[in-house]
Order: sequence, then structure tokens, then C-alpha cells
Amino acid sequence: MSAYETIIGLEIHVQLLTETKIFCACRNQFEAETSTNTCPVCLGMPGSLPVLNKKAVELACRFILAVGGDINTTSVFARKNYFYPDLPKGYQISQHELPLGKSGTIRVETDDGTSGVKLQGIHLEEDAGKSFHLEDSSNIDFNRCGTPLLEIVTMPVIKSAHEAYLFLNRIRQIVQYLEISSGDMEKGALRCDANVSVRPEGQHEYGIRTEVKNLNSIRYVEKALSYEVNRQINLLEQGGFVVQETRLWDENNNRTVTMRTKEESPDYRYFPEPDLPPMKLDNEWLEEIRDAIPELPHQKIDRFVREYSIPQYDAAVLTSTVNLADYFEQTAKLCKNPKQVSNWIMTEVMKTMKDEKSDPEDLKVSPKNLAGLINNIENGTISGKIAKEIFAEMAFTGKESDEIIAARGLQQITDKKVIEQAIKQVLSENPANLKRYFDGQEKLFGYFVGQVMKKTEGKASPHLVNQILKDKLDGRKA
Ligand code: ADP
Ligand code: ZN
Ligand code: MG
Repeated sequence: MSAYETIIGLEIHVQLLTETKIFCACRNQFEAETSTNTCPVCLGMPGSLPVLNKKAVELACRFILAVGGDINTTSVFARKNYFYPDLPKGYQISQHELPLGKSGTIRVETDDGTSGVKLQGIHLEEDAGKSFHLEDSSNIDFNRCGTPLLEIVTMPVIKSAHEAYLFLNRIRQIVQYLEISSGDMEKGALRCDANVSVRPEGQHEYGIRTEVKNLNSIRYVEKALSYEVNRQINLLEQGGFVVQETRLWDENNNRTVTMRTKEESPDYRYFPEPDLPPMKLDNEWLEEIRDAIPELPHQKIDRFVREYSIPQYDAAVLTSTVNLADYFEQTAKLCKNPKQVSNWIMTEVMKTMKDEKSDPEDLKVSPKNLAGLINNIENGTISGKIAKEIFAEMAFTGKESDEIIAARGLQQITDKKVIEQAIKQVLSENPANLKRYFDGQEKLFGYFVGQVMKKTEGKASPHLVNQILKDKLDGRKA
């Protein structure tokens, strides 16, 4: 089989977190009772006029500036005409020829370094309503009609299904960092259509692409694209060809199926929206927006690697949300060993959050208390093993580690006499094993250590047990 190159371009829709809809004063809240957040404007009544929501423009500009895109200080809204039951106006107000933003790059950390995914266009538009089906009826909820969306279109530069997955994760993270959207893909706050084509390595022109829709989780995007890449390669290998069409991801059967071919694809008859003047933006206002942009995920990753000397992998996990990153930093500031803090957060803390389905700020273990626990290990008061038990109690009760250690008498035994005594007992109780050890079965050393730990209820300092036991056995051997 010859080698093929994969080319993917994504079209992403992000629901913007405004109070009200993009062209009317209805609440941007579609979990309310069906079709209650509606008015003549968003229901498309004749004679009603749209009024642009400044907040939606601000959130869109925040994104464009954050990813290094260019803002057209004059942009134009356009009508995109099509018929669908959830679109009462018969058109969607979108942007076409002169969109709000263009270009910009999103950094993604891939397995072999970092890649920069270039954006093609970024524009504002309104969402449509939502149909839902009951046993014997089809219904439409108009609450979502006219809510603001940011559309982000990438250049055809993504090279694998996995890179598309990483890219979407990063987009979700960025919109969350920027507080412009919940980014919740399962709830439709982030949606993605994927264009994909393959071409034999070395071929200059692009292959024929298909577009895959109905991808409502980031995992599905990766699965659907892998499936589609294989399907296209198989077609070409068998001497066939790819048909340009729109396909749907069928999550129950793990495959894509034809939705419509190019001939059936709608002609949207775009034209400038006559009820809205061109949108002109003031440079001073844009500078204010730029100044308020927070540190972005990739910048945080780089800073964590630099300031705390932790691996990039750790930094990427710890910066997955702003709150987790803050939790790490607050803890690390109180500890000498940031890598130890990272290890604890990536294991016990994240496991607890997962079990409790909670966020860092809901954890009963505050950064200060976690730092206390880690310092207890670092200065030898407790062993790492006992620390896990203490952590579990801290997560349950919210108590400090010092308090638990004192109450349960868990301090590590560092008194050499006590440890020597325990070792003496263990050796005298195990004459047969001792003989085998001296006959060459050196791995029994670990057995003796285990027995001493058991005798001291896990409280002896493992470091001292190893050291004293070694001295003792070497001494006897000599
Ligand atoms: P359309 O006019 O059909 O919307 P665009 O040029 O706007 O097409 O591209 C839509 C999306 O498809 C973009 O994300 C783009 O990167 C992607 N795309 C374009 N050509 C290809 C191709 N040959 N293979 C994969 N993706 C492509
Ligand atoms: Zn309305
Ligand atoms: Mg397009």
C-alpha cells in the first residue's frame, strides 16, 4: 500500500456567553421552558428589526485578538438563505464576504513537538432553533434562535485525526480561559464539522474532501476522522475515487454515512443584511479588549516549565483549567519541590476530583493543606505510603495533615534503637530465610524490609530500615 498524507480542516461553532441574544433583548438561555425566550425579532416576524449586541462583538474580538488574528474594523453581516423548520426567518444572519476576523494561529503540543494550526476566518452569526421529537410529534424550541455564535474555520493544515482532537481540546481550553463560552461539547456549546481528504505522498494538489457532521464529543471527532481517513484510502487503493459529499457520524455503528452529495448541497444566496449597517469598530476599544486578555494555556505551560522546572507533560495536565493551574501554583509556592506537588495533583488530587465530580475549588484539601502534607513527607515526618492514607482523610474531613498525624500517631519512626530492635526480632523469627539469604538469595532482603515495616505498622522510616538492615546483614556476613 502506498503512503498517504491526511489533510483536515475544521469548522467550529462556539456559543458565546452573553446575557442576551445577538440581535434582540431576549435572554441567551435556552434551557428555559420551550420557546419562552423569544420575541418578534428572533421569531422573524415581518417588520421587526435586529439590533446588534455589543457584548457578542466584544467576546468575538477577545478571541480573535487572543489567537493573534486580524480584526477587520469594518465588517458586514450577510443573510444566508435556507429553509429549515428551526429557522423561522428563512435566513440566518451571518458574515460572508467581509467577516469580523481572519488569520491567527493556535498552538498545539503534539507527540512530536508543537504545531501551529492556522485559522482562515472567524466570524459572528446567529444560531437557529432546535427541533426535538416526542413519541408522536415533532416540535421546535425557538429559545436558541438568535443566540450568538462564533464560527472559527481553520486552514486545511491539520495532519491527523489525533491532531484534530488535540486542536479541539485546545480551542475548548482557550474559550474557557477567555471566559467567552462554556466550551461544553456535549451540551452543544462547542460544535465541530470536519473536512478531510487524503492524497498520495508527494502529490501536490489536494485530494477530494468529504465533510463529516454530527460530531458531538471531542472523542467522536477523532474516531470519525480516523474512520473517514481509512475509508478514503481504501477507496483509492481499490482504484475507486472519493465523492465530495457531506457525511454523518453514526455513533452507534462507529462509521460515517452519506448525508448529502455535492449536487444536493444548498445555494445560500448570500447578500448583505439590509437591516444592519456595516459594523465599524473603534481601535481604542479593541486595545482595551486586548489589554484584558488573560494568560493563555500555551503561555501558562511554557511558564510552568520555566518557573517550576516540571516536564511539559505535567505542565499541560496542570493547566487544563485555570482553577487547577491556580491550585498547583498556590501549593507549589508553599513547597520546596514543585515536581512533588505536580505528582500529587496528577494522582491523588485529580483522582479525588474525578470521584467527587468536583472542581479544585470544591476540594476539602486546600492548597495550604496539600503543601503541609507534602512538606511532612519531604522532612521525613511520614512516609509516602502513609501520606496517601492521610490524604484520603484530609479529602474527607478537610483537616490538616499535622492534626491527623498527631491524632493517629502516624509519625514515622526515626529512632534507630527502635528500628534495630524490630530488625533483630524479624531476623530471629526467620532463621530459615536468613540462611537462604546468606546462601545467595539476596532478593530476600526486600522480604526482611517488608517484615520490619509490618512490625512497625508501616511507620518505620523505610530509608533507615534499609540502611540499618544492610549494615547488620553485611556485618554478619563478614
Ligand atoms: P467552503 O467554501 O465549501 O465552505 P472552504 O474553503 O471555506 O470551503 O473550506 C471549508 C473547510 O474545509 C476549511 O476548514 C478548510 O480548511 C477545509 N478544506 C478545504 N479544502 C480541503 C481539503 N482538500 N481537505 C481537507 N480540508 C479542506
Ligand atoms: Zn428575541
Ligand atoms: Mg466556507
